[in-house]
Amino acid sequence: MNLSIPNYIYSIKPYKPGKPIEELEREYGIKDSIKLASNENPLGPSPKAVKAMEAAVHRLHRYPDGSGYALTEKLSEKLGVGPETIVLGNGSDDVIGMLCRTLLAPCDEAVMTAPSFLMYEILVRSVGARPVFVPLNNLAVDLDAIVSAVTDRTRLVFINNPNNPTGTFICQDEFERFLKQLPPSLGVVLDEAYVEFARDPRCLDGLSLLEKNSQIAVLRTFSKAYGLAGIRIGYGVMAPELAELLHRIRQPFNTSLLAQEAAIAALDDKAFFERTLRLVATELDFLQQALKELGVSCFPTQANFFLIDVGRDADQVFEEMLKKGVIVRSMVSYGYPRYIRINTGTREENIRFLDAFEAVMKPDEAG
Ligand SMILES: *Cc1c(COP(=O)(O)O)cnc(C)c1O
Repeated sequence: MNLSIPNYIYSIKPYKPGKPIEELEREYGIKDSIKLASNENPLGPSPKAVKAMEAAVHRLHRYPDGSGYALTEKLSEKLGVGPETIVLGNGSDDVIGMLCRTLLAPCDEAVMTAPSFLMYEILVRSVGARPVFVPLNNLAVDLDAIVSAVTDRTRLVFINNPNNPTGTFICQDEFERFLKQLPPSLGVVLDEAYVEFARDPRCLDGLSLLEKNSQIAVLRTFSKAYGLAGIRIGYGVMAPELAELLHRIRQPFNTSLLAQEAAIAALDDKAFFERTLRLVATELDFLQQALKELGVSCFPTQANFFLIDVGRDADQVFEEMLKKGVIVRSMVSYGYPRYIRINTGTREENIRFLDAFEAVMKPDEAG
């Protein structure tokens, strides 16, 4: 190929998603596998969302409402923020991309933790800006170290709370102190993909800060607690002036008709949402207790996933679990060579996981 490509494009490592179930079953010739690798909702999609999508398929010859009027109004009401502060996206990944394109010029810097959600780095590099990595401290986001990493070139900071992949959280007062130390010209992306699952009342709620602070963009998604990862819908809430700029650069129809209808219905499906939160809480406790009884250490979490210290090469444990039809996430590429991450499944799935895990960890006794 003779095309001239900017070097920063070559600096991007392709995103590695959790292994899809179909791929595993094709490769290993097995059936009935389970996936606990992508923090998805084990209950499936919200049933009300499914009905709404079925009803909407007959309108698919039409373009969607590019402004997402009905969903934006609904979110505005639910969250108690003005509709002019909301930007919908084809997943919150899409909003991260818009924020990068709006706030970053080539050679600018964007500060993020290491490890962090892989899309931050990819989207920062895709506009020619430079990711600056700040290590986690004891698996938690180190806000002081982030302040120290800010330079004249920094335009954006990424913070994920509760944090993926570690499950740690930031306290409200701690974050407010952090904001005071930042130059007001710096954009702060506060990614709250898992905030619905947080059980600790001290956990930061980004929306509560938006009125006083115009540099934050809070990101939320329907992919996790609402069970809609496959349809791609998420949103950002930010100062109206910033939202207006994102609307200028986004694709005119960036959220599909089905996605908008599904999200509206999911917001009305309180029973499903509450069932999800109950299941995740119960199953987190069940899994962690069972692992403790196996003598395996795992880490506390405010999300729907957690880290497990397997005490040996995590890639190897990942492979051995695959052969038993259980997909987990190895943390080797995240810098944790002995950790795996799993999300909560249904009770049945969790028992499958525990049986497979016990056999993998104690191969002698299992024969
Ligand atoms: C899952 C996840 C998201 C959500 O991405 P979508 O594009 O909305 O599916 C965002 N941030 C983090 C850290 C996540 O883990």
